[in-house]
Amino acid sequence: MYDFIEREDPEIFEALAGEEKRQAEGLELIPSENYVSRAVKEAMASSLTNKYSEGYPGKRYYGGQEFTDKVETLAIERAKQLFGASYANVQPLGGANANIAMYFALLAPGDTVLGMDLSHGGHLTHGHPVTYLTKIFNFVRYKMKNVETGEIDYDEMRRVAREVKPKIVLAGFSAYPRELDYAQFADIAREVGAVAVMDIAHIAGLIAGRAAKNPFDYGFDVMTSTTHKTLRGPRGGLILTRESEEIAKKIDKAVFPGFQGGPHMHQIAAKAIAFQEALHPAFAQYAKQILLNTKAMEAVFKKHGARMITGGSDNHLILLDVWSSIGISGGEAEILLDRAGITLNKNAVADDTRKPMDPSGIRFGTPAITTRGFREAGSARVAELMLEVLTKRDDAAVEHARQEVKILALAHPIPESLY
Ligand SMILES: *Cc1c(COP(=O)(O)O)cnc(C)c1O
Repeated sequence: MYDFIEREDPEIFEALAGEEKRQAEGLELIPSENYVSRAVKEAMASSLTNKYSEGYPGKRYYGGQEFTDKVETLAIERAKQLFGASYANVQPLGGANANIAMYFALLAPGDTVLGMDLSHGGHLTHGHPVTYLTKIFNFVRYKMKNVETGEIDYDEMRRVAREVKPKIVLAGFSAYPRELDYAQFADIAREVGAVAVMDIAHIAGLIAGRAAKNPFDYGFDVMTSTTHKTLRGPRGGLILTRESEEIAKKIDKAVFPGFQGGPHMHQIAAKAIAFQEALHPAFAQYAKQILLNTKAMEAVFKKHGARMITGGSDNHLILLDVWSSIGISGGEAEILLDRAGITLNKNAVADDTRKPMDPSGIRFGTPAITTRGFREAGSARVAELMLEVLTKRDDAAVEHARQEVKILALAHPIPESLY
C-alpha cells in the first residue's frame, strides 16, 4: 500500500505507516471512531476528487456532470432508504457543517434553540459558548432529571419551551448512553410550533441497523448526522428531512450556496458505498453486536462497583466516573490507558466539579472493536484490562495490559469488507 507516496514523499509515508501500525496494534475505544471498508477507501482516493460539481444533480454550475450526478443521486436515494427519509442532502463536509447549515436553514438571527446541556452529553455545535453559533442564535438548555438513571426532565423541558418559544427543539448527543423518548420531544416541538431536529451523529449506525429507534417514527422533522461514526462511512455529514419539501429546499440552499462551495464528490461516492453496506443484513448484525458488546463491558464495571453515568448503557458508549469510583482523574486515566494501547477520551461527567482539561470521567465505546469482530467475551476482557490498569497504575500493570492488548488486536485484524 502507498507505493507512490513511499517513492514520492517519504516523510508523509513514514507518518502514514506509523498510523497504520498504531491502528492495527492498538484497541480503539473512542466511540466516535470506526474503520471503513476497502471499497469506501477506494472511493475516497478516486479521481472524483478532481471534479467541481457546485449545485445539485441536474442543476450544476459546471459541465461534465454525467457521472457525478449518478454518484450523488445514488447516495441520496440510499440515504433516504436507509433512514426512511423523503429528502437527503449528502453534501455537508462534516457533522458540524451539517448542523450549521441546518440552523441557518431553519432560524433567523436571534431565534432560540432548545438543546441538551453540554455537560449532560450535548455536542459543541449544540450551542457551546466557544462556537460562533452562540453569537447568532440563542441556545437554551434542558438536562437530565436524574443523572443516575439518565431520565430527561421532560416536564421542565416543556415548561421552558412554553416560556422561550424555540424555533428548534434539538435532541442528540455525543456522550449520553440511553435512548431518548422521541415522542416527548416531538410533542413539545409541535406544541410550541418548533421544528423537531435530532442530531444522530453518534448513533446513525445503530438507527440504520435497526438496533436503536428511528426518530422519524416518532414525529421528528429533520435529522443531521455524521457518516464516519457508527455508520462506518467516510468522514462527512448528512441532513435528512422526513416530509416537508419546504424544509428540504431551505436545507439545500443553506448547504450550497449558503455555506459550502463545491461538494467533495469522492467523499459522496464513499458515502453512497457506506450506505449500501449499511443496507445489508450483515450491518444489522453489526449494530446488534455493538449493543451486546457494550452490555458485556457494562457488566464488568457494574461488578466492580464503578460509577457509570446513568447507571450503564443502552447504546454504544459508556461514561465512567473514574474520579469518584477509582480515584483517578479522567486525564490521567486517558494517558495510562493510552500507554497500554487502549485509546479513549477523558470526558466531563454531568455537573462535573473538575476542570474540563482534566475532568472526572472517561468516555469509551464498542463500534470500532465490534467492526474488528470482538464479541461479548473479548469486550469484557478489554473492560477487565482497563480496570487492572486504572486500579494498579504501575508500570508492570501497564506493560502486562499492553502485551495482551496487542495480542487481542492482532487476533482481530481490521476487516477489508463488511461482506
Ligand atoms: C461528532 C458530532 C458532531 C460533529 O461532527 P464533525 O464531523 O466532527 O464535525 C456533531 N454532532 C454530534 C452529536 C456529534 O457527536
